[in-house]
Amino acid sequence: MTTTAPTITPPRYTGVLINGEWSEPRTGRAFDDIEPATGERLAAVAAGGPEDVDLAVNAAVRAFQTAPWARINPTERGRALYRLAQLVREHSEEFARLEAADVGKLLADARAEVELSASLIEYYAGAANKVLGETYQAGLGKLAYTLNEPLGVVAAIVPWNYPLPLAVLKVAPALTMGNTVVLKPAEEAPLTALLLGQVALDAGLPPGTLNVVPGLGEEAGQALIDHRDVAMIAFTGSTDVGRKVMHAAAQRIAKVELELGGKSPHLVFPDANLDEVTRYVAMGLFKNAGQDCCAGSRVLVHRDVVDEVTSRLKAAAEEQKVGDPLRGEGVTMGPLISQRQRSRVHSYTSGALADGGSLVTGGRELVEGFPERSTFYAPTLFTNVRPEMKIFTEEVFGPVGVIVPFRDVEDAVRLANQVPYGLAAAIWTNDLSTAHRVAGDVQAGMVWVNEYYAHVMEMPFGGFKQSGIGKDYSLHALDAYSQVKEVTVRL
Ligand code: NAD
Repeated sequence: MTTTAPTITPPRYTGVLINGEWSEPRTGRAFDDIEPATGERLAAVAAGGPEDVDLAVNAAVRAFQTAPWARINPTERGRALYRLAQLVREHSEEFARLEAADVGKLLADARAEVELSASLIEYYAGAANKVLGETYQAGLGKLAYTLNEPLGVVAAIVPWNYPLPLAVLKVAPALTMGNTVVLKPAEEAPLTALLLGQVALDAGLPPGTLNVVPGLGEEAGQALIDHRDVAMIAFTGSTDVGRKVMHAAAQRIAKVELELGGKSPHLVFPDANLDEVTRYVAMGLFKNAGQDCCAGSRVLVHRDVVDEVTSRLKAAAEEQKVGDPLRGEGVTMGPLISQRQRSRVHSYTSGALADGGSLVTGGRELVEGFPERSTFYAPTLFTNVRPEMKIFTEEVFGPVGVIVPFRDVEDAVRLANQVPYGLAAAIWTNDLSTAHRVAGDVQAGMVWVNEYYAHVMEMPFGGFKQSGIGKDYSLHALDAYSQVKEVTVRL
């Protein structure tokens, strides 16, 4: 496919990768991949369709059944993954620049995400030969043991906010357990997933082991989740599309792993260190322009300190330097991913105003002084928000937070749990018993005390309630990408 854009790092791979070979899509179509900071086309990327998906799944089935990937010594599989991690590091600047342009994120953040991705691949590479079964001596004459077997073809479907690490979080544990993979990146930011496909080939992964089919969600994505030979769907994205994934999987009882949306709370108690609260809450709201599943978008604050916290957060929001992360000086927050996303964010803030919310700061599209087709939005805070308002319960996925006062611990926990999501939560207090009590009562898959984004890769990451099913990161992910077989032998 051709690339035409004014771009900082011209993308080398924009086609479909099936069975170790790049090709044009069978649809004969491409979609425009737009750089959000400029509104200009970064690349024309293959719009894979059902035929491409079918070829990719068939290649993955063949690679699973005939190539030795699932059957080779796990130490060898681990070595191949180490080579992949090494190559990701060698290409780290190319990955980071592509990602920063494609998503509109800070280059420093993109570099950290590439490093995280390489570290994750190493982590799973190291785990490959440490997966052991169980044995049980069932009395005299019987020996039972378990085998951890791969599932077959895993469909990995990922969103655009952290394209490389989110792809790696599916691909690395799936490959570690001996599965083969068809990866469908998001249409808004597909470039690093495509480069990952090539780097995996360069690392010596057998053809067909990792196939990459870019394309639109309703077209390539839907064909992939509907494909009868896909044994597992590993999905990160919105709760609405997660429902479609479950529906498709239900038709053939395929396994699913779902990492979905969030509306995560901070619970700020009056004894908290307010300097730290301000720093981390601002980060939780404005990092990646708020386009983060864990964004701490509900700031619940004890009524004794709510005015103080509100004025500090207003200052922090107004200090953000919004601009083009690759070309601007000192930029701290980039654009939203697309015009569509910006309109969606704006409709939430307009709705909150109509519902009686009070705007502390922001609430507007940034147009003047920004490129015509760019997608910047002002860091935004609301007060006077009631729990039944959409801005309190629904995921906005932009730099928008609500500040809501609470009376006591019970009130704080009730407010925190009053949404359909349960991804992350942060507790701000120096009182150990409050911290542990609230950590136990809050409905969230990840709870951080006196920090935000405190997650470490060796621990499980995943949501409660409508935030998902299953865990990314950690050794828990290896269970997700395998099935346990029991064997009992009469001696
Ligand atoms: P999305 O659900 O619209 O798209 C995600 C992926 O699904 C994309 O690749 C898209 O092409 C594909 N898709 C869309 N329709 C499909 C269909 N009918 N069949 C199959 N695939 C389809 O989500 P998004 O807008 O790209 O990402 C934002 C969402 O992702 C937010 O809700 C965010 O919270 C969530 N997210 C969750 C986590 C987590 O770990 N829990 C991490 C990052 C993002």
